[in-house]
Amino acid sequence: DNASPVQPITVLGSTGSIGVSTLDVVARHPDRYSIYALTANTRVDLILPQIKAHQPRYAVMRDEQSAEALSLQLKAAGISGTEVLSGEQGLLTVASAEVVTSVMAAIVGSAGLAPTMAAVEAGKKVLLANKESLVMAGHLLMQAVQRSGATLLPIDSEHNAIFQCMPARYQSGESLGLAAEGVRKILLTGSGGPFRQTPLDQLAAMTPDQACAHPNWDMGRKISVDSATMMNKGLELIEACWLFDTGPEDIDIVVHPQSVIHSMVEYDDGSVLAQLGNPDMRTPIAHALAFPERIASGVPSLDIIATAQLDFEAPDYQRFPCLRLATEAVTTGATAMAILNAANEMAVQAFLDQRVRFTDIPVIIEHVLATMSLVEPSTLAVVQEQDLEARQIAAEFIKGSHKVTG
Ligand code: NAD
Ligand code: MG
Repeated sequence: DNASPVQPITVLGSTGSIGVSTLDVVARHPDRYSIYALTANTRVDLILPQIKAHQPRYAVMRDEQSAEALSLQLKAAGISGTEVLSGEQGLLTVASAEVVTSVMAAIVGSAGLAPTMAAVEAGKKVLLANKESLVMAGHLLMQAVQRSGATLLPIDSEHNAIFQCMPARYQSGESLGLAAEGVRKILLTGSGGPFRQTPLDQLAAMTPDQACAHPNWDMGRKISVDSATMMNKGLELIEACWLFDTGPEDIDIVVHPQSVIHSMVEYDDGSVLAQLGNPDMRTPIAHALAFPERIASGVPSLDIIATAQLDFEAPDYQRFPCLRLATEAVTTGATAMAILNAANEMAVQAFLDQRVRFTDIPVIIEHVLATMSLVEPSTLAVVQEQDLEARQIAAEFIKGSHKVTG
């Protein structure tokens, strides 16, 4: 018979919001996909049931301590088919293993960069949720895609929508650029987050739980805070520039509170193509997993009658200074984007730990960007050095600002 072989998949960050949605889609198609490796930070209790359900060849934990704890639990449960690895080396191993066809890159933050790069360099089909890696090292990642022949498919709902609305040559990685393909501009939509209408003088008092209560999407805490500051849209602007080989001048940010349209592409003839759907990440995940085929994702049909209304607004740069900082960083180029990302990760963590206020986040990022000298991001090591320096400067500033705002 001519049945295609089952594809072994690595899920980096399997215990997170995207990881769980990925396993949900994979479990619907045992004839197509099997799990080669699952990875988590330190939560043994979360990865253990995933291992029982999917029987991967490998499980990777961030440190040796949690790897040992997992090994003991697997032994106690009588599971011997899964080998436990740890640390960055473990992630690199399962991201680039010969037999793996696709890698879901769903670790949050800069920790995702090295394994994502490893998957790209190994020429895998890379399903990219970890937008931070493109923000940090977009030039290097895109160069590596060209060199290795890897397929990079966006999981971020907006970029997945843009990809779906793009001309065929963009989808096959052979495009000559937006203008040559008759694309006039990209419309990047965003909900505006939980604080779109909060009175400005109340923003400083917003708590981590309020920031993480997103109106439309159920996500990890870091990206939820990014959505509340709209840094998420700023990171996505940078992500779109790298993915679609264009500049911020060709991308309009549009606030669309219902999150039913996931983004749009406008053509020279005035046509505007949009991708619509329920706000459920299993749609872009299923799209990228099966591309160029289509498979069921478990997402219910969009009830367009119940939706009834689609609203659009211009973004408010006064309310969301992070949008301005991200736009400036992509215009500046060099390591500005890596510094922006590192400072943002530090500021968001400090906010989640209640060491700084919500409105301190852009202040911290602006301070770090103003303090550092930029360099050309010519190698991954250079990017990682700048990332580290930005984190140190942010940490010092956060310590000091605590006394002032205390
Ligand atoms: P999450 O916090 O729910 O999950 C993060 C995953 O990464 C977990 O499995 C965690 O164990 C692992 N992890 C965290 N720190 C790690 C470290 N230092 N080393 C190794 N593993 C580590 O996050 P999420 O919401 O699933 O987001 C994951 C990525 O996808 C982010 O880059 C985010 O921006 C992007 N994304 C998420 C959504 C969404 O709907 N959740 C949408 C678009 C893009
Ligand atoms: Mg998004």
